[in-house]
Amino acid sequence: MMKSIYAGALLSLLAGSAVQAADPDLVLSGEISYAQYNTYVELPFAVPPGVSRLSVKFDYDGAEQRTTIDLGLADPHGMRGWSGGNKKSFTLAETDATPSYEPGRIDAGEWRLILGVPNIRSGVTSHYRAEISFNRAEETTLKEGYAWYRGDLHMHTAHSDGFCLSRSGKKVNCPVFRTIEAAEAAGLDFIAISDHNATTQNQDLRELQPFFDKTLLLPGRELTTFHGHANEWGVAADIDFRHGANGMADQVHKLGGLFSLNHPNAPTGEACMGCGWDAPGFDPAKADSVEVVNGGGVRGAGDKALALSFWRSLLDKGLSPTAVGGSDNHDADLPTTTPGSVGAPATVVYAANLSQRAILDGIKAGHVFIQIRGGDPARRVELTSGEAMMGDHIRAQAGEVPVAIHVSGVEGGSLEVLSDAPPPAEARPLSADDRRGLMWKSDGKRHWLAVLVKDRDGQAVLLSNPLYLEP
Ligand SMILES: [Zn+2]
Ligand SMILES: [Zn+2]
Repeated sequence: MMKSIYAGALLSLLAGSAVQAADPDLVLSGEISYAQYNTYVELPFAVPPGVSRLSVKFDYDGAEQRTTIDLGLADPHGMRGWSGGNKKSFTLAETDATPSYEPGRIDAGEWRLILGVPNIRSGVTSHYRAEISFNRAEETTLKEGYAWYRGDLHMHTAHSDGFCLSRSGKKVNCPVFRTIEAAEAAGLDFIAISDHNATTQNQDLRELQPFFDKTLLLPGRELTTFHGHANEWGVAADIDFRHGANGMADQVHKLGGLFSLNHPNAPTGEACMGCGWDAPGFDPAKADSVEVVNGGGVRGAGDKALALSFWRSLLDKGLSPTAVGGSDNHDADLPTTTPGSVGAPATVVYAANLSQRAILDGIKAGHVFIQIRGGDPARRVELTSGEAMMGDHIRAQAGEVPVAIHVSGVEGGSLEVLSDAPPPAEARPLSADDRRGLMWKSDGKRHWLAVLVKDRDGQAVLLSNPLYLEP
């Protein structure tokens, strides 16, 4: 026998129900009693047009009296999943869904939350509450507090051209979990899986994130076109890569993600099709960041592969795209000391916590430095001026602006000041924990200043983002 109970009034009836960061769009609440024992109760609700993600949080009381309520969901066409008593919250979107539920379109119309009642005792009344949210990003926060978080923003898995060795030593399309294990081995706090024009990796991330709860997994994608490659981070939804770079960037921004130009200086041709960035009519102000360090490039061509000239040309135009690194890893088995292994380069972000929103905000703000090679997690560079840190814009009248440079882990190395108006800097070799300052002349115009750090062999190992002077 099937019964329908329509949603009752919004009641805060369950002690201990989770405090919501934002109000849900719908609340379905009501009672279950012995009359519903061994039945399925259907709770219909309306999904409006324009919904791309649907999330449910569910709770009920009476468990101590052995009430058990199972959970499932149907869309206007049929069942979308059944999680029984094993989950109290779940989410569904076109690209990904909590295991037990099928990813797919969230069509407008009448959906039904289905409650199974395998047990309730005679005389017991249990109260349930289901909170339903539309288009809300599912936020995972793995660590609280402002800190520098190390990550890798560019890598490939079985969902595009990432390969590794199988258990019997055959080269196979490499499953996502191997890349995450490589990130753990490199000590990374976050990674973005950026398969070429694929979104199917996001379903794996949905399943793997609860297990890999020390490594934040960001949805991403390498939007791969005939005129350049761009990463997007923070958007799991499909973005059409066939209709021009400006449109792609606009879609990514509308969905709350970042748009970043990959290996823009790479040659383009039969060896690497569309690898350099020459998208016709692209508005460079739409680029949130530029991949100045690409691990595959560094492995092949050393420091010559750094996209410094491309990045500098945007800075000189008055733009402020954040310099980032990406390993562009295609083989999770590469040893962590090799450029192009997962985490080499690493992008180190100052963020409010270890969550997708905070990491993306830190990148957008330019609160970022890059560890250029593998095996260098202890190497750090920070650029500050008073309260301002790299990425920040300082308003300055004509005069001198003091800049403090802190480099650690590069004893015997050297420091190169990159700027459109470089001030004189000391040439003495770096100490193991080096602090030095310089006076930057402000003429009341816009300027930028960053530093590139080289080791004692003259190889680039660290790149800061700029401080900006603004009139
Ligand atoms: Zn690429
Ligand atoms: Zn790539």
